[in-house]
Amino acid sequence: MLYVVPTPIGNLQDITMRALEVLKAADFIFCEDTRQSAKLMQNYAVNTKLLRYNEADANSIARCLDILKEGKTCALISDAGTPCVSDPGWKLVKAARQAGIKINALPGPSALTCALSGAGLSGGGFTFLGFTSRKQGKIVKMISAAFALEKPVVIYESPHRVIKFLEIILQNFGPQTKVISARELTKTFEEWLQGGVEEVLANLKARKKILGEFVLILDPRAQNEEEEQDEPA
Ligand code: SAM
Repeated sequence: MLYVVPTPIGNLQDITMRALEVLKAADFIFCEDTRQSAKLMQNYAVNTKLLRYNEADANSIARCLDILKEGKTCALISDAGTPCVSDPGWKLVKAARQAGIKINALPGPSALTCALSGAGLSGGGFTFLGFTSRKQGKIVKMISAAFALEKPVVIYESPHRVIKFLEIILQNFGPQTKVISARELTKTFEEWLQGGVEEVLANLKARKKILGEFVLILDPRAQNEEEEQDEPA
């Protein structure tokens, strides 16, 4: 049995009782970085053995799969949030499925749902692009395609690239493009910014240093379109 277990994205208390039960009862926990995950396990007195899972290494996947095939109960976690959501895990889940091993995916924390639920946007669906390309041409192509669906577009971005990304949005989609920036969600310095891309960009550029992790939500819809789409069918 392979359990896919979400872990906190900042605030250690954001873990479900079921996730803790599963982590405690498992024979092994497959994780990205044993030192990183050890902190969470120590906090909750989880003594299950941590094994590094490296998705870039076929041997690592095979080793985890062998353990599952032996009939062991294992939990797959990532450094933070939900495994397989812009995080490693899918190759093991796919291989385990193909091998007929039962998969049990637990619901739990993700920066994606946390940002969406706090954004105050109408609930008629969204497009999630995860991390975008580093190439301007590809970014413009992806965002154009996503905007055509007329739903909010959610993006993961690092502090090193957020300015560059927003500059590309400003140049190609105009200063009024609506942006919500959710930074350091669930942490002490959680911060939300909202406005036209030019405004949000100016706010970030005025800082000496940009710290923390970002979820950006771009909304191609005008206010009235947002309300229209919220009407029940
Ligand atoms: N699997 C994770 C999830 O379910 O949210 C995402 C992992 S991905 C490697 C890391 C990215 O998620 C960051 O670069 C950032 O865009 C976003 N992220 C993670 N934690 C965050 C937080 N506390 N606040 C804002 N964004 C966060």
